[in-house]
Amino acid sequence: MAHEQWLSLTIEMAVDNVKSGGGPFAAIVVRDGNIIGKGTNQIHVLHDPSAHAELLAIREACATLQTIDLSDCILYASGEPCPMCLGAAYWSSVGQIYYACGKQDALEETGFPNPLDRYFTDQKLPGDHRLVPFIQVTCQHALAPFYEWQKTTEQK
Ligand SMILES: [Zn+2]
Repeated sequence: MAHEQWLSLTIEMAVDNVKSGGGPFAAIVVRDGNIIGKGTNQIHVLHDPSAHAELLAIREACATLQTIDLSDCILYASGEPCPMCLGAAYWSSVGQIYYACGKQDALEETGFPNPLDRYFTDQKLPGDHRLVPFIQVTCQHALAPFYEWQKTTEQK
């Protein structure tokens, strides 16, 4: 499957996650064309500020493979990973990282707020200057999870 197809799957997962009370993010870890770990943002559901989609997907992938070495795996995330998840990705030696929606896009288009996240992001190197390639892929529905989140905030 092409990178965009894997990312489209994470976008669908993120939209469904918002509908069931979670945050607008999802991630998968893929190895040899198979999903070995999945995660959706569960911070409010679990009352755990570290329950980010990417972190949960990495944990599940490591448990599945019984290893902490994901160097032959790809991490796909519906939204641009935060520094914590990037740190977990580096600790797991994940080979490549692809994401669909940039932080700035989510903020500008839907007002998705995360000042702490933006602060961290501003401290990082540009994606193409990092040791692990960190690449945004243009996906048609990348903003869908954030539009879904926007609907939930309008109802309050
Ligand atoms: Zn994160």
